[in-house]
Amino acid sequence: MNHKFHSFLHQQILLMLGLSLVPGLGYIFLGWMNNIITPALIWYILVLMTSIWGYRLHKAFLYDTMTRHELDKWHQQLRWFFYTIFSLWTLIFLLYSSETDSKLHYIAIFTQLGASVVASTLLYSDKKLYTPIIIILMLPLTIYFAGIQQWYGYVLCFFAYIFMGVLLYSANSSNQLLLKTHFQATHDELTGLHNRKQFNDTLQKTINILKSSKYYSYLLLIDLDHFKIINDSLGHDIGDKLLIEVSKRMQNHISKEHTLARLGGDEFIIIGPEFTDRDECQKSATHFAEQLLKKIKASYIIPPHHLYISASIGLNLLSDKEIKVSSFVKEADIAMYEAKAAGRDGVIVFNDDFSKQIEKHLEIERLLHFALEKNEIELKFQPQQDQSQAIIGCEVLVRWNNKKIGEISPVDFIPIAEQTGYIIELGLYILEESIKTLLEWEEKGLILKQFSINISMRQIFHHSFIKDVKTLCHKYLDHSLCTKIVFELTETIVAEDIKKLVAIMNELKKLGIKFSMDDFGTGYSSLSYITQLPINELKIDRSFVSNLNANEQNKAIVSSILNLAKTFELSIVAEGVETSEQIDFLAQNDCDILQGYYFSRPVSGAEFEALFFKNK
Ligand code: C2E
Ligand code: CA
Ligand code: CA
Repeated sequence: MNHKFHSFLHQQILLMLGLSLVPGLGYIFLGWMNNIITPALIWYILVLMTSIWGYRLHKAFLYDTMTRHELDKWHQQLRWFFYTIFSLWTLIFLLYSSETDSKLHYIAIFTQLGASVVASTLLYSDKKLYTPIIIILMLPLTIYFAGIQQWYGYVLCFFAYIFMGVLLYSANSSNQLLLKTHFQATHDELTGLHNRKQFNDTLQKTINILKSSKYYSYLLLIDLDHFKIINDSLGHDIGDKLLIEVSKRMQNHISKEHTLARLGGDEFIIIGPEFTDRDECQKSATHFAEQLLKKIKASYIIPPHHLYISASIGLNLLSDKEIKVSSFVKEADIAMYEAKAAGRDGVIVFNDDFSKQIEKHLEIERLLHFALEKNEIELKFQPQQDQSQAIIGCEVLVRWNNKKIGEISPVDFIPIAEQTGYIIELGLYILEESIKTLLEWEEKGLILKQFSINISMRQIFHHSFIKDVKTLCHKYLDHSLCTKIVFELTETIVAEDIKKLVAIMNELKKLGIKFSMDDFGTGYSSLSYITQLPINELKIDRSFVSNLNANEQNKAIVSSILNLAKTFELSIVAEGVETSEQIDFLAQNDCDILQGYYFSRPVSGAEFEALFFKNK
């Protein structure tokens, strides 16, 4: 039975007490009038004692803080209370129905019928209550009528029998309607799991219990990975079927003590059972989540498809921590996003560091907004050298210095700028400053072969990017200077929309601009990009170069990349060169251009100029 109905039954206790104690007094009076006062008094004392019990049950009910187990126990006692008090009414019926001389039997019969109606209207929320009670009340009545052994007695017996059936039937229909409406209000239509509203109620209740008991529990937020792709590519029907299958698996995995709900879309949430020990709770929760993930990942057959799906799970421990209920969900959500960021298909436990990271993130987001306005953005230049160690190019690297939070790495703020869209404004500024520098250097006789600028994907896909680049090129550069510009793209995020990207790149190539594939080797489909995108240069990722001396495998990887570049007639830059051993190896393997701390860190424009002319 659903726990919500407990409150419903709870309200009926007092009504039942009133309906027993007051008419019971009438029965004592009748007993006194008809010389059967002793049994009537004994009966009333029994009713009184049962009523005290009922009143105590009424008082003991604290829905918000009772555990499931306590509620079940309470409910069991409540049932016995109702069985007892209605049985007492049958008892007085048996006593008074034999008093035919004083016509008390009429009153007894009437009361018994009334009690049956009361039982079927008060108790219809619990089938295990009303069914036996209606039978306890009505069966003696039918037997009594039959016992008259006259034709009208048999007729009455028959009617009573029918009446019992009607009462049971009507209580049943009310019960079913109640269950149905309650189910609809608290369950998700597609999967039949609890809905968000029901989940919120349960979570609130769980937190109340944890507060009063100092127990621990946990919350799992489960988000399916790349579900949208399935929905978009195979259709919503298949998507729905998959959701139903996933729900079934989850439902099979949980125990009676878990609460499973669908929050919407492909997001599910589970509240765990209660634990007395924090570590035990965390251990059990992690194990539970990992097993659940395994089950979700097993393949699905949804004709005509064979599907696989993984999930990202955020785990948050629930305790009597003084935060809002919704904050527990938010924290689980943060952990879930961490799991997504860590490559999906995993379980991450929320910890307070996440909150700090988020605060930092928000602070960066807030301050970054004014970075350009406050002149906090600066460009640095890192030289690129050929095999003879002559400076032939540079990479522009952005720097942000904020008064309040100091120097922030582009690794930290570029992704945020991409998320907020600020990268469009920032990127344009970097582009213009870079182009101005290129021109200025050219005029000073600082002649480079190439000039590399990092371009973010969000930026290149922006609708005005081509127009902006054209405007800047025409404003500052002639065609031969334009051909020195190299846009560095990072391959890990190139996948978005290859066709569109190729079109944009080709358009820009008309201006003379070249393209370099940055961080090559770290993405997913490095090789396929080389064949699809019109690129001119590969940049071997720093991680391969810095690990060159670590083992033979890395050497093999780097020399294969170098061979690959030759095959596709691409020039190649090794970045992150820090030691002479690395230079030796790269030189032996015909690497065109080298860049790294070994020669120089990224430096200011003035420093770069000095470096260049000294090198010359
Ligand atoms: P990236 O494009 O891969 O840039 C190379 C990074 O490696 C730079 O870090 C550079 O300072 C560093 N580096 C160069 N040589 C060495 C070395 O020998 N050893 C080591 N350990 N590191 C070396 P930085 O400047 O912090 O930039 C980090 C990333 O931020 C860049 O990675 C790029 O993805 C992004 N970024 C930087 N400037 C811009 C920009 O103007 N626009 C955009 N969209 N992204 C930028
Ligand atoms: Ca780069
Ligand atoms: Ca790089």
